[in-house]
Amino acid sequence: MTHTNTLIDRLVQALGKEGVIVADAIEPRYRKDWSGVPPGEPIALLRPRSTEEVSAALAICHEFNTPVVAQGGLTGLAGAAVPAAGQIALTLERMSGVEEVDCAAATLTALAGTPIQVVQEAARDQGFLFALDWGARGSAVVGGGLSTNAGGNRVIRYGMAREHVLGLEVVLADGTVLPMLNKMQKNNSGYDLKQLFIGSEGTLGIITRAVLRLQPQSAAPCTALCSVAGFDAAVKLLRLAQRRLVGAVGAFEAMWPDYYRAATSYGKVRAPLGEAPFYVLTDMVTADPGVDGERFQAMLEEAMDQGLVLDAAIAQSEADTASFWALRDATPEIMSHLSPMLAFDVSIPIGRIGEAVERMRGELEARWPGQDGLYFGHIGDSNLHLIYSLADDRESTALEAETLVYRVVSEYRGAISAEHGIGTLKRPFLSLSRSASEIALMRTLKQALDPCGILNPGKVI
Ligand SMILES: Cc1cc2nc3c(=O)[nH]c(=O)nc-3n(C[C@H](O)[C@H](O)[C@H](O)COP(=O)(O)OP(=O)(O)OC[C@H]3O[C@@H](n4cnc5c(N)ncnc54)[C@H](O)[C@@H]3O)c2cc1C
Repeated sequence: MTHTNTLIDRLVQALGKEGVIVADAIEPRYRKDWSGVPPGEPIALLRPRSTEEVSAALAICHEFNTPVVAQGGLTGLAGAAVPAAGQIALTLERMSGVEEVDCAAATLTALAGTPIQVVQEAARDQGFLFALDWGARGSAVVGGGLSTNAGGNRVIRYGMAREHVLGLEVVLADGTVLPMLNKMQKNNSGYDLKQLFIGSEGTLGIITRAVLRLQPQSAAPCTALCSVAGFDAAVKLLRLAQRRLVGAVGAFEAMWPDYYRAATSYGKVRAPLGEAPFYVLTDMVTADPGVDGERFQAMLEEAMDQGLVLDAAIAQSEADTASFWALRDATPEIMSHLSPMLAFDVSIPIGRIGEAVERMRGELEARWPGQDGLYFGHIGDSNLHLIYSLADDRESTALEAETLVYRVVSEYRGAISAEHGIGTLKRPFLSLSRSASEIALMRTLKQALDPCGILNPGKVI
């Protein structure tokens, strides 16, 4: 019997026949994610039903020194969930469900395979808001969202995934279970170990359960789409809105004119405002839309008096709100029109984003004249996105464009990944954002938690 056959036999004994799918029987969807990284050829797909089964499976894979790649909803954009040849994929899809909503603690406990939208709905049913939200909410799951420390549209008000987690249950590479299902906001009893696993893209442990923080449910937000005098005016508008609406700015999304034009043409979305130097989509979290609506409008009028806002459309209905957000969410349609293209997700200190965009635009135009570069992003969180249409589909062209953009990011002391993670796609560029000593410490942590290197090898570091 070969080494692989013995391994599979042991895994079948631990998880049952339905828990282990082998080679050709693995459906194509488990071989890739949304990143476009070529599909892998895993030797098996594991489908555990419980933490005990995850623990048993990892202990066996550890003994056989066989790599394991955790999979959630496979919506990741950095290639981090794609298994390579000879590796084992482990999906959390059979570990799905909300186990508890604790109304006194304002927490929700869910299994790692629970879709984000299911968590949001369960919270809403009990009068709470689970505020972590992004476009892939229907497919992305708790374990994947936390392992990538996902951000999305509400970070400016509620923070990234990290800030929505009070407790985690995690299985280490050798099968050890860490039961850290804390429900309290204050807990300084030693190191905050859960933070190691949030954002580590399945390289340090497998998340099996999470205690998530809930927020009070709010009424429908006040939403406006604004034409703004330019990037610097947009930053002043953000600070004015934060001063006047104290703690209630719920979103602050920026669109440069090229992006706005593309969204209204390729994205087939209505253009509520005409040509302008810059566009901002902002909203205010409200308890009482009547009273808060007046404060929101007064803030916009003050911004107009100061010459920051040139024109504004305030949503009068849910349909208006949806149509404004459709502009910001038109990226999949835009990308399908611009192939071959690259999608960037970077951070730059907010005050310098405008200047950095002009640098990138100038350098890209000088190198490849006439190509589309569409800039937009969650600028309230310093997060810039760029969709860049490549001059051709050669790998060398993509690499040159990536290097050019990431060098500019590095010069502005930014981050090459704001919210999508490193995976395999950005791994070659990590040193442009993190120092040699930081990367060395990451390797030390990896070695301590996963000495045989079986958890998602080749990703992040
Ligand atoms: C349409 C669309 C819009 C998006 N918008 C945003 C956005 O606005 N903001 C944003 O931040 N991101 C966004 N994303 C990307 C985002 O990173 C992913 O949607 C999400 O975080 C990954 O969740 P998933 O369940 O699909 O994980 P997967 O893609 O399956 O896995 C992602 C990573 O997590 C690891 N992993 C999965 N489950 C576990 C587990 N239980 N334990 C340990 N590791 C695990 C995997 O190994 C992999 O490294 C978007 C993606 C899409 C497709």
